[in-house]
Amino acid sequence: MKRNLVIFLGILLLCFQCTFLLGFNTFYQKARLRKVIIDAGHGGHDGGAEGRYSKEKDISLAVALKLGKLVEDEIPDIEVVFTRTQDIYQSPVTKANIANLNKGDLFISIHCNSAAPVRHSEVTGHTTQVYYTGKGRKKKKHTRKVAKYRYWTTPNVAQGTETYIWGAHKTDMKEKAMGENEALYLDSATANFVKDFDPNSPDRMILYSLKTQQYFNRSANLALTVEDEFKKVGRISRQAQQRQVGIWVLQAVAMPSILVETGFISNPTEEDYLNSDNGQNEIVRCVVQAIKRYKYSLQNQSSSVTSNN
Ligand SMILES: [Zn+2]
Repeated sequence: MKRNLVIFLGILLLCFQCTFLLGFNTFYQKARLRKVIIDAGHGGHDGGAEGRYSKEKDISLAVALKLGKLVEDEIPDIEVVFTRTQDIYQSPVTKANIANLNKGDLFISIHCNSAAPVRHSEVTGHTTQVYYTGKGRKKKKHTRKVAKYRYWTTPNVAQGTETYIWGAHKTDMKEKAMGENEALYLDSATANFVKDFDPNSPDRMILYSLKTQQYFNRSANLALTVEDEFKKVGRISRQAQQRQVGIWVLQAVAMPSILVETGFISNPTEEDYLNSDNGQNEIVRCVVQAIKRYKYSLQNQSSSVTSNN
């Protein structure tokens, strides 16, 4: 009887381990791209950067809508969710909530860059200034020449694209986002797997940090691919970068996330490009091409994980 109990407990332990490993694999290998959240940066009273005649919020919305349309046309098994389709203001929290509640597999935020105008000055002439030294009888009158300046600014020549991912030091926050949104983003198998865990248990934290690392790698992979596609069509790529501040939303979404600076609204040539149909279509084609490559690499990764198992 005692021996039977030992065997029974042994089997139970084995089952538990199997469940753990299976759950863990499900958690780690989930590499799907079924839903993309497309975020048009800024909106409403938050106009973003301004050019000579246009605002970032309008360009980002036009590009985001075209991007969504092309994704649906060219990659029909991907569902697109927009954070906004109109000129409305949304806080970063609202944007992150939309992404998390919709259980996105990828978050792409569309923006325009801006660089401060360059200030110039030149001497346009001189004036004569009178000044005095000493006091009373010793007071003496002097004159001196003072240069007159003209100041003006010219648009900054900065141009090209940049794609951002969240700064590596912000991974704590990403892990927190994963914890808070766990019920929302986990597939049911994984949700079952972690549901009995203490939220502060080291096991759970290990899962979050593995997932965060995985999302970081995927975001970086996609950012590099987007910039690569921009280079292919002759855009000046200012590379994939990690931003230290100002991209709260990238950290707050429980999914891989990138922010694409599609060009400089402060550069007159690029402002025209960003506002043109041709420019917007070219940007959108590059991003869709990058999404296709990213999706393909995910599928390859998951099939190699499956075959390894
Ligand atoms: Zn912006």
